[in-house]
Amino acid sequence: MPEYKAPLRDIKFVTEEVLDVKSHYANLPGAEEATPDMIAAILEEGAKFAERVLSPLNRVGDQQGCTFNDGVVTTPDGFKEAYQQYVEGGWASLPHSEDVGGQGLPESLGLMVTEMIGTANWSWGMYPGLSHGAMNTLESHGTQEQKQTYLTKLVSGEWTGTMCLTESHCGTDLGLLKTKAEPQADGSYAISGTKIFISAGEHDMADNIIHIVLARLPDAPAGTKGISLFIVPKFNLDGSGEVSDRNAVACGSIEHKMGIHGNATCVMNFDGAKGFLIGPENKGLNCMFTFMNTARLGTALQGLAHSEWALQNSVTYARDRLQMRSLSGPKAPEKAADPIIVHPDVRRMLLTQKAFAEGGRAFIHYCSMLVDITKKGSAEEKAEADELMSLLTPIAKAFLTETGYEAANLGMQVYGGHGFISEWGMEQNVRDCRISMLYEGTTGIQALDLLGRKVLMSQGKTLKTFTKIIHKFCKEHKGDKRFKPYISALSKLNGEWGDITLKIGMKAMRNKDEVGAASVDYLMFSGYVVMAYFWARMAVTAQVQLDEGSDEEGFYTAKLQTATFYYDRILPRTRTHVEAMLSGSDNLLSIDEENFVFL
Ligand SMILES: Cc1cc2nc3c(=O)[nH]c(=O)nc-3n(C[C@H](O)[C@H](O)[C@H](O)COP(=O)(O)OP(=O)(O)OC[C@H]3O[C@@H](n4cnc5c(N)ncnc54)[C@H](O)[C@@H]3O)c2cc1C
Repeated sequence: MPEYKAPLRDIKFVTEEVLDVKSHYANLPGAEEATPDMIAAILEEGAKFAERVLSPLNRVGDQQGCTFNDGVVTTPDGFKEAYQQYVEGGWASLPHSEDVGGQGLPESLGLMVTEMIGTANWSWGMYPGLSHGAMNTLESHGTQEQKQTYLTKLVSGEWTGTMCLTESHCGTDLGLLKTKAEPQADGSYAISGTKIFISAGEHDMADNIIHIVLARLPDAPAGTKGISLFIVPKFNLDGSGEVSDRNAVACGSIEHKMGIHGNATCVMNFDGAKGFLIGPENKGLNCMFTFMNTARLGTALQGLAHSEWALQNSVTYARDRLQMRSLSGPKAPEKAADPIIVHPDVRRMLLTQKAFAEGGRAFIHYCSMLVDITKKGSAEEKAEADELMSLLTPIAKAFLTETGYEAANLGMQVYGGHGFISEWGMEQNVRDCRISMLYEGTTGIQALDLLGRKVLMSQGKTLKTFTKIIHKFCKEHKGDKRFKPYISALSKLNGEWGDITLKIGMKAMRNKDEVGAASVDYLMFSGYVVMAYFWARMAVTAQVQLDEGSDEEGFYTAKLQTATFYYDRILPRTRTHVEAMLSGSDNLLSIDEENFVFL
């Protein structure tokens, strides 16, 4: 049976030893309480909840799925009870401010727990995950009254939240959306329209659901400049803020889908439902970006979750499964055959998973510490962190979900034919992972955002903010012969990142399609370089520990060996991406639309 063990040692390595979370919290206003002892206690409790409560429900969720009956959605057995335990454990309130009932702990600490929850059971984790996005939106853009009314109940976990953007004719291009918001005499709005694919749109886990909805006011300008944001509760509230009668919003059906069966994907019908404006009129998309950025980092985490899950279970299987003998002579002569972990190709698969899981972990937790700074840092620190996040968010979202899917697929491959059989869980991991490259903006859309909006439109400024950090790191370590293989490759790629950006920028001045033609290769190139930076940092940290005579020689040596694997076998993929992205747009655009298929 597949299972999940929280990788507490690796989370500690990444956050404490590599990213120095201790100094980070010491300098972060309001994070004084997050002492190392407290962090350790929270992670241990979070690990228990993930391993004992959520992990056993992962398969149940897949097999039972959610059921729909006349507007009512029932979640799989055990989901509701697990949510109750989550609320009672205070997990929902961990990173939210104390004035709305939160514990005021840093966002990054919350993300360490979310990593364990999401890896144990992604479908279940999406329910509180969506709520977290709704909370961040209300925290940033809600009025004091809205915060007191809605945020406090979301923070306590009594209610959950959703994100209602997509309509049947528009997912990527939200400028096309049609849902209407008619102003009412009492200051509220009547919301009418149909949203599709709404995760956690209806369920039986909480007393109320707070939908955060994009809609258009009458006479709003066409396109994205005419979209406003609304709060629409499933149940209206009475004078004291408690649940009263049902609002005119209902789930019309749930989707039957490839994976994440335990999470309800709903068609939501708004039929003159009572809603309340959040933020200024026609600025809804700007406000929604708060939600989308939370959700994008959350989805990047999904890539890490499926990599980690695949790695853990693949290693267990590869140690156990006996097939053939090692080419260089038997490694387990006492057995009928060698365990498949001796074969170089199986090691290639396991090390790819390990490189993506552990490299992804460093990338994600680095981003989450930047999020802390965007919330609590000084004006200057905040400006830099905002700039870094604007560059790194599309890379993290798209690159880590692409690598997560590769790792999940390799998991199936390590299991051979058994990987295709449901009971081993590897095919569920592949199916559950696949959505991560689609929702929250597809890989293609993240790539356009990265190259077009973030890099070229800022004249390369955001890119330089990050390449300077890599440059500084390379300069610091270039004198040390032991790090030469990492530092010389990283330094070269870092320079090349700027050069290829310039080349594409020049081409784009003549033909804008060059941006779209280069974008996904550009994003993947960027992802491999960012991950190379984190692997170099992890290698340096590991070497220092070994030099100091650490008694965890195996752990740190494996870090160095995985860094070497990443640099030797994964990083060369950048060559293909450079060639492809610089090959121009003609090879994509010259073929006539009519000539794609001849039937
Ligand atoms: C299980 C599930 C859960 C979801 N949860 C939610 C949710 O909670 N809330 C919510 O609002 N939505 C949700 N969604 C919707 C999801 O975010 C959208 O499906 C996604 O953004 C893509 O939109 P689309 O399906 O309309 O595809 P389209 O926008 O039609 O895109 C189709 C293809 O065209 C490409 N494309 C489109 N425009 C361009 C362009 N300009 N350049 C290059 N390529 C382009 C896309 O990359 C994609 O490959 C969910 C979807 C699913 C399946």
